Amino acid sequence: MAISEFDIISRFFDGRGPQRADVTRGIGDDGAVLRVPPGQELVAVLDTLVKGVHFPDNTPAEAIGYKALAVNLSDLAAMGAEPAWFSLGLTLPGRDMGWLEQFSAGLFGLAGRHGLQLVGGDTTRGPLTVTIQAHGFVPCGGACSRAGAREGDDVYVTGTLGDAGLALMAIAGRYRVAGSGGEYLRDRLERPVPRVALGMALRGLVHAMVDVSDGLLADLGHVLRASGVGARISVERIPLSGAMQAARNELGERQCLDLALSAGDDYELCFTAPPSSRGEIMRLAEAHGCFCSRIGVVESGGRLECMWEDGRVYRCGHKGYDHFADAGRGPDEKQ
Ligand code: ADP
Ligand code: MG
Repeated sequence: MAISEFDIISRFFDGRGPQRADVTRGIGDDGAVLRVPPGQELVAVLDTLVKGVHFPDNTPAEAIGYKALAVNLSDLAAMGAEPAWFSLGLTLPGRDMGWLEQFSAGLFGLAGRHGLQLVGGDTTRGPLTVTIQAHGFVPCGGACSRAGAREGDDVYVTGTLGDAGLALMAIAGRYRVAGSGGEYLRDRLERPVPRVALGMALRGLVHAMVDVSDGLLADLGHVLRASGVGARISVERIPLSGAMQAARNELGERQCLDLALSAGDDYELCFTAPPSSRGEIMRLAEAHGCFCSRIGVVESGGRLECMWEDGRVYRCGHKGYDHFADAGRGPDEKQ
């Protein structure tokens, strides 16, 4: 017997994952009815993943489910928001039960970890596309913004940069990974860890925050433009993973640094804060088990410059990813 759209919803999505007390009506009606706690504002984010654009064709369904939610949680983290609910727009080429099983397992695995409830969505037929809209809370007036960076602020980034870009190079056959680095890199590409708890903890402490999805220079560039300032980044302070350092011999230092500065898909947080907050920021990062690096300073003027410690300017060979500037390219050329 052919399975319908409604069978798919009830079998794979309805009633799964956390069921929250603030959901008056979830899946099954024309719209969800949701309660925002008094004194809080709703933060809404949305991200779409398209097969062949945001993930290579052979990506496991479980990883697609995980990542579709992870990239939205990363946006909520950058706003300093506490995740609550999400909706799922799913466009499927066919009715592949095994695929849906894996996809929903990846999705609800992550939703469960952050207490998110799936409250609605839409299911259609077409080229594989996953859209998620996620919602979270912040105390009224407390959301982080891209627009608050001030001259004299430090610039920070969490985790390490460029790993997902390096993983895409390996998938495209342009870099051969040695030893156990392959698994690590694949994980960094397919299972980014959204910095949700740290993002919430940094609320009120940072002047500006963004998540690094299109490359550090592009995303920090958004912060600087929104804030009307510039910044100087210290090249030696860019955090590189062991796998990236191991790639230096084969790819050369320049290509590795360019990946770290401009390749997308890192889903780390980049933020600015006054020097008086240094101790508190490092303490919070450590408390949340998150590696955090101070990589530069905010300056007047609108320029974003990368410098070696000896004063030489470093010119990155790439800009961040832009879907329309790079129209027609596949995921293997994303950086
Ligand atoms: P409508 O036709 O009124 O837009 P649908 O028939 O598409 O509603 O969906 C029925 C119910 O199932 C709605 O509550 C909708 O939010 C939910 N829903 C549809 N697709 C999904 C999905 N992929 N994940 C979660 N809920 C879904
Ligand atoms: Mg309807």
